[in-house]
Amino acid sequence: MHQVNNFINGEFVEAESGRRFDKRSPVDNSVIASVAEAGRADVDRAVAAAKAALTGEWGQLTVDQRVDLLHGVADEITRRFDDFVAAEMADTGQPHHVMTHAFIPRGAANFKVFADIIKNVPTESYQMATPDGRGALNYGLRVPKGVIGVISPWNAPFLLMTWKVGPALACGNTVVVKPSEETPLTTTLLGEVMNSVGIPEGVFNVVHGFGPDSAGEFLTQNRSVDAITFTGETRTGTAIMKAAAEGCRDVSFEMGGKNAGIVFADADFDAAVDGIFRSAFLNTGQVCLGTEKVYVERPLFERFVSALKQKAEAVKYGRPENHGANYGPLISREHQDKVLSYYRKAVEEGATVVTGGGIPEMPAELAEGNWVQPTIWTGLPETASVIREEIFGPCCHICPFDSEQEVIGNANANDYGLSTTIWTNDLARAHRMAAAIDVGITWINSWFLRDLRTAFGGAKQSGIGREGGVHSLEFYTEMRNVCVKL
Ligand code: NAD
Repeated sequence: MHQVNNFINGEFVEAESGRRFDKRSPVDNSVIASVAEAGRADVDRAVAAAKAALTGEWGQLTVDQRVDLLHGVADEITRRFDDFVAAEMADTGQPHHVMTHAFIPRGAANFKVFADIIKNVPTESYQMATPDGRGALNYGLRVPKGVIGVISPWNAPFLLMTWKVGPALACGNTVVVKPSEETPLTTTLLGEVMNSVGIPEGVFNVVHGFGPDSAGEFLTQNRSVDAITFTGETRTGTAIMKAAAEGCRDVSFEMGGKNAGIVFADADFDAAVDGIFRSAFLNTGQVCLGTEKVYVERPLFERFVSALKQKAEAVKYGRPENHGANYGPLISREHQDKVLSYYRKAVEEGATVVTGGGIPEMPAELAEGNWVQPTIWTGLPETASVIREEIFGPCCHICPFDSEQEVIGNANANDYGLSTTIWTNDLARAHRMAAAIDVGITWINSWFLRDLRTAFGGAKQSGIGREGGVHSLEFYTEMRNVCVKL
């Protein structure tokens, strides 16, 4: 069995406590790895290593040297592409093509893009008049924030973790990463990459474990962590924010969503069906930006529901390495229980189950996996739990609508505000809708199309702050102003 250790100060090490936990495969729940669980002492050692590295060799590098090293990291990820694909498939159970087209290439891109940004972005400069007529010059100086605590989730583990580590390192910080306990493998593999590329010891550290009373909480409580970047549930963000309040440390949060998909009758029908299908069911619905509530303009409603049903019923279940499969299991038994509880709740609240609603019949070797059917409901009022609460599963409710105002109201009637996807050929309407819906990201006639230079984040309880492009620099650097009297 695979033995996964913490990565501290450039070395793979057992936990001082000697504690380990099992990582199970989502496809059949067999144990695939034994993972060292970092205790407080391990986390403190990792943070101390990261602190020391700030003023060591890493801190002395020029921006060009740092940028070259990070390009090296991206190249090494690409060279070891198959290892990363295999590790991420083992962790998540998601199909091969999702790994090769999205999750792993994006991981490499996260290092390249932010290295290039830090090399090219200017800092501000203002000249000012002074009473003596000689003036003064102000200029901005970006310096690293320090040790960044990175706490990441399981749903797109490598992509989401590198989305934070890439810019953090590009800006000259050091990091201690606590990946999700459900997906320890690719973050650990990145430790090997860091060593082979020559990233100095202590710059990138990994501590494994859980949240409360484990590595996650110990990391947030360590006062030498200068800032915390987190992706995960809003409830967890609340706990982390409380921890970060000690020492008034900065946070950047990317959290839950309950995103609306909106289809107008003038939309390109096939493209809209395809887009909503992907946004509801890709990664077995475990995408923060995914669509769990769909609104279709009434003239198109019946046709749309039946087209989406047809696609949902055609998914091919299977192991990730089976190239014919395009639909994987949920991450864990616990998450399967949660999603199935919503499937039951929808029925109790009076939904019409268009398709799915349970566990598919699987061959014996996969019967123990965390499989659930893609599920579509209609007929529920806006007050229903499955329309209001984030399920994070392969399911959506579809509701007909008659006016722009009505659908804007329903899209916004939520504590979350992460994303929306709107399908229409009326461009003026598309712009109106984009301005009226209270989310961080609006897609028009597309979904999950990401330019890494753009602002990414959530409104309301979906997040705090923005990352992406120069916005990441706002969080990962301290901006100093230098005022020179001439
Ligand atoms: P989670 O909040 O349960 O866990 C995320 C991470 O936080 C894990 O590493 C976990 O161990 C750690 N953690 C848990 N409790 C902690 C604590 N008290 N202190 C410190 N660390 C703690 O989230 P998840 O189940 O892994 O991921 C799914 C959630 O993530 C969904 O809500 C989804 O919408 C959200 N998400 C958001 C985005 C985004 O960009 N907005 C992206 C992906 C996922």
